[in-house]
Amino acid sequence: MQPEDIVRVDISSGEVSGKRKPSSEYPIHLALMRERPDAQAIIHTHGANTTAVSCLRRDLPAVHYLVPLFGGPQIRCAPYATFGTDALSTNVVTALHRRRAALMANHGLVVLGRDLDQVLALTAEAETLAKLYLDASAAGDPHILDDAEMERVIKKFRDYGYGPVPDQNNSA
Ligand SMILES: [Zn+2]
Repeated sequence: MQPEDIVRVDISSGEVSGKRKPSSEYPIHLALMRERPDAQAIIHTHGANTTAVSCLRRDLPAVHYLVPLFGGPQIRCAPYATFGTDALSTNVVTALHRRRAALMANHGLVVLGRDLDQVLALTAEAETLAKLYLDASAAGDPHILDDAEMERVIKKFRDYGYGPVPDQNNSA
């Protein structure tokens, strides 16, 4: 990939410029960058483990204490809609309320954060957690950590640079 392969999309008008076409999911990127001031970088993947959980149409629950790195006691699964549609974009934005990641039913994963280094690290962590959940579920019935414990963990994460996830349209 070369710099000239990058496609620019105007955040206000949605106007596209460049030699190539933007990703079919650019409406998701656009909607998140408009509505989430904390979304300075966004990664969308079809990673095998997160996508497998998305095919179960389940939230990824607090099967491990690192799940609240993504902002809460679960990574929600956005309802299915056809790829590239505004309906899918709306579903993903809703599932990402006060979260840094959302599964997309029968599709994949979206992660957002302050820069690409952070978001890439979180994307890899989401894959690891989804694999843990799938492996533990295959072996038995995994114990899910309760919300009170997740609140304690979220408070401790603040010391590691993972502060609370701001609300939509709220840079606080
Ligand atoms: Zn996709």
